[in-house]
Amino acid sequence: AYVLMNDDFVSREAARVDIEDRGYQFGDGIYEVVRVHGGKLFKMDEHLSRFVRSTSEIGITLPFSVETIKDKLLQLFELDPLEDGMIYFQVTRGTAPRIHHFPEPSVPARLIAYTKTSARPAQLQQQGVQCVFAEDIRWLRCDIKSLNLLGNVMAKQQAKTAGAYEAILHRGEMVTEGSSTNVFIVNNETLYTHPANNFILNGITRMTILEMCAKLNIKVVESTFTTQDLLEADEVFISSTNIDAMPVIQVDGRPIGSGKPGALTKAIQREFEQLFNS
Ligand code: PMP
Repeated sequence: AYVLMNDDFVSREAARVDIEDRGYQFGDGIYEVVRVHGGKLFKMDEHLSRFVRSTSEIGITLPFSVETIKDKLLQLFELDPLEDGMIYFQVTRGTAPRIHHFPEPSVPARLIAYTKTSARPAQLQQQGVQCVFAEDIRWLRCDIKSLNLLGNVMAKQQAKTAGAYEAILHRGEMVTEGSSTNVFIVNNETLYTHPANNFILNGITRMTILEMCAKLNIKVVESTFTTQDLLEADEVFISSTNIDAMPVIQVDGRPIGSGKPGALTKAIQREFEQLFNS
């Protein structure tokens, strides 16, 4: 297994970062996860543009151009090919004596990347999952894909402790997103999802689903909805790079709709199958 570290491809064992790397001390960095389906990279360019946007929002200067980063990720994928899994990559603001403000511009950002095999959760995608509600205690720039994931970590742990798959976050009554997913509800054959603003990460999968709906003539409304709206919805599903569209059949122990994956959710899942097989 290889790890990309800025210019070098090193073995997993040789890949080491300093204790004063700002990712390690401050969570001061940005990451992305690109899905691999049947040996093919999915939506690589979209992930790269979100990466560039996130880094520019927090003032990290990338060590290479986006084209060079893409080349390096493709080289890594050639060294460590896989059928199903992901490429993980992240950049931190580099290594410097610990002080909160940015280091001098001469300190280079540190880019790392590696690949990992992982299977799609086919059985859960078919059956659907249970979720819990959790208060969204994160900062107000959730549109940035920051390494600072403490709010997300705490929420996912709440879900795990409750025996649930995901925590659906809400600020007051308003549902924002999941701890590592976007959230959709269906009512009268219309799809609702939180607008892409500072309260959520605009998922690449979310954007793909909105494109699919346009193609399938499914009406989409990007607006906020409440926890109550969600509990009363015909269907609920969550989305991310790892799970595509995952039906949610129970929240806080209460069944959603018929308590089974809904028709619109299944139509979206079929679109993903087509996309991956094309
Ligand atoms: N929201 C959050 C908080 C996430 O961590 C993720 C997964 N990275 C998503 C949404 C879904 O994004 P994507 O579809 O790009 O994986």
